[in-house]
Order: sequence, then C-alpha cells, then structure tokens
Amino acid sequence: MGSAPLLAVRGLAVSFQRDQDGPVSRALRGVDLSVSESEIHGLVGESGCGKTVTSTAIMGLLPVPPARIEDGSIVFEGRDLLGLSAEERRKVRGREIAMVFQEPARYLNPSFRVGAQITEMLGLHLGMNRREAEGRAEELAGLVGLGGARRVLQAYPHELSGGMKQRAMIAMAISCNPHLLIADEPTTALDVTLQLQILRLIAGLREKFRMGILFISHDLRLVRTVADRVTVMYAGRAVETASALAIYREALHPYTRLLLASIPAAQKRGTRLKVIPGRVPDAQAIPGGCAFHPRCPLAEDRCRTEMPESRDHAPGHAAACHFVGKPWPD
Ligand code: SF4
Repeated sequence: MGSAPLLAVRGLAVSFQRDQDGPVSRALRGVDLSVSESEIHGLVGESGCGKTVTSTAIMGLLPVPPARIEDGSIVFEGRDLLGLSAEERRKVRGREIAMVFQEPARYLNPSFRVGAQITEMLGLHLGMNRREAEGRAEELAGLVGLGGARRVLQAYPHELSGGMKQRAMIAMAISCNPHLLIADEPTTALDVTLQLQILRLIAGLREKFRMGILFISHDLRLVRTVADRVTVMYAGRAVETASALAIYREALHPYTRLLLASIPAAQKRGTRLKVIPGRVPDAQAIPGGCAFHPRCPLAEDRCRTEMPESRDHAPGHAAACHFVGKPWPD
C-alpha cells in the first residue's frame, strides 16, 4: 500500500432542495475520488455530471441550504473537512486548498489593482507585511509568466487580456503555497494557443511546488495533455478511474469509450464524428439502475434495475459497469 492520498473523497452524496416541499436534485450520489501529492488528476464528464459540485464541496463553498451533504467524507491531509467549523474551513481555503476558475474576471475584484489583491492574500494567510507581500507578489507574477510584472501588478483586472487575467488568478491561487490546487475548466474561455500555455504553466507549477492538482474539464483532449490519472463522472458518480494512459488506451466504461470516440482527433479520416446519444439526466430524475442505461449501446435488462458498483478490473483501474469487456455493437 502506498502512503495516504493528499485528498480522499469517499461516498460523497450532495442534494439540493430549494423549497421544503420542492423536488430534490441528487447532484452527487456517492463520489469516490483521490488526489496524491504532486499528481495532476483529471476530473471529466459532460456538463451536469457533478464535477463543479464536487469541487465546490471540497472548497467548502456549497450554499447550505439549499445544498445538503447527505453522506460521505472529504479527507484532506488526514482531516475530514466536513467535520471542521466554518472558521476552520475558511483557513484551509486559500491557504491549503486554492482554486482557479473558468472566468477569472468574475473572481478578480474589478475595483482593486491586481497586485493589491495578491498582497492582501499574502497578508491575510501568511501574515506578511506590505513590503514582503509586494516582493512576493512580483516574484509570483514572474513565475506565472506575467511579463513586466510590476506594470501588471499595478493594473486593474479590466486592463488585462483574458490570458493575463487567468495568469493573475493562478498567481493569486498559488500565493500561499497551497498543497492542493483545484483548476475548474481553467482554459475553457481561452483560445487554443493560450490554452496550451496555461496547461504548460499548470504542469510546471506541479513540478515546482509538488502540489496535487484536481484538473476539471469537459474536454478529454485537454485532460490527456496534463493529467496523470483520470476520473470520469456521470450523473453524480465516478464511473471510471485509471491512469491517463489506461483511460486513453483501454477505457472500460461505455460512457468513457463514447466520450473518447466523440473527440474529433480520435476519428479516423473519412469516418463520421460519433456523438453520444441522448443527454445527461436531470439531477431530479436520474434513471434507476445504471444511470447511463438510456444512452448505453451495451445496456441489458439488469442495467435498468441494478446499479453497478465500482470494481477494480486491473491494478488502479476501476469501472462501474455490469458488462465490462462486452463486445461493442457494430
Ligand atoms: Fe451500460 Fe449496463 Fe454498463 Fe451501465 S451497467 S454502462 S447500462 S452496460
């Protein structure tokens, strides 16, 4: 057995209910996920599969109510975060676990210069005085590739390009040397060249700081370029987990296989792009049995009544499907 992971999410179940008598959305239905030190772990799935609810729960930012944690644990460096007080969670957030979002413009305060926002974090979490914090902010800006660091730190967020804003957000996120960085669709709003630059930056930060990174994306192509391991989510559950290599070479779960087949680069020349039939179910109406059965080409009667548990099919390669290995229909 290896050492304990940096982060271990076990059986996490989260529901949302806006009114006392209103419908219940089962956003997470027993998520298992782990991230080790220095690992980039990709969390993938279509929109609505529960990726962002998972990351929000890890950050302790779920709005409770209407959210309710029904079950499970989120153990980070040996502590169950769900057992901490609001004040203790606040200290972990930003200092030990930090997050980078899809749209930095929404999270950078438009009224303050970028540098002031970074130095505030450093003062708040690390107790640095102004001079120390300004020096460190400049160092961080250089580290994330913000050329002309001083000038950029003096700028307001609206004066920066999209790529620069994302770099500034990353500088803020890593300012307190977090042990875990959650990057939620960090490149979705960027063009392809900037996407690659940000992916390289994230991979470099892992090397430099030995931090674990949970990299969330709907795009398996992007995840392939950075992740060591991958967890695929569907309808609020983790349906397959393996090394990135195993996922791309020998995916076991039909949903993962269809996701891979729908990547344009994975298509053979002259063949039609495959699409996954149907849609992700509404969290208020998740089908019984295997939630993927209405869309699955391999579904049998058993799939409609019996939810498959996740099982290891090879060391480090788990999938939740009754019929792993069943031949694919023509
Ligand atoms: Fe498809 Fe059945 Fe496997 Fe679900 S359990 S993924 S429906 S074959």
